Order: sequence, then C-alpha cells, then structure tokens
Amino acid sequence: MEGQFSHVHLFLFRCAECAEPLLIAATSNGENTGETENAAYDVLCTCGWLKRFLGLEAIGHYVVPWIDAPSENHLPDRTVDDSGLAET
Ligand SMILES: [Zn+2]
Repeated sequence: MEGQFSHVHLFLFRCAECAEPLLIAATSNGENTGETENAAYDVLCTCGWLKRFLGLEAIGHYVVPWIDAPSENHLPDRTVDDSGLAET
C-alpha cells in the first residue's frame, strides 16, 4: 500500500571521481531522522564510481514531508493550441 511513510529524506553526496552531485532518496515514518542517517546507501555515479555511505556522511540532508505531498506536479496543465500547429 502506498503512503506507508510520512517523510522523504534526500541525501546529497559527491562523486570522488567526477564531482557530480548524487542524490539518494530514503523514506521514514515520523520525523525521526536517525534511522535513515544510520542506514547505508550504495551511491552509484554515472561515471561508474560506487561507494557505500551512511546517511550521516552526506553533504546535505533534506527532509520533505510526504503525507500531503501532491502526487502530481504543481504546474498548470499545458494546453495545446491547435491553431498554432498548422504554421508553415
Ligand atoms: Zn562520477
């Protein structure tokens, strides 16, 4: 069932090879972050670099309340203007 978790934790890491930012998403119940910070994550970069980090080793840790988060984006529906399609 969806919605079992109340918060999403975003951990930001940095690739030691190419310096790309690497983001790991974890989930938790309640606001207790200890569980996700002490968990290990395999961080894989597109360059092939792979390392296992603990959440607390992340450069950044962002907590997002998830229960009321919309399942669709906030952007207004994009309306298609048929009149513009026939332009030559
Ligand atoms: Zn890399």
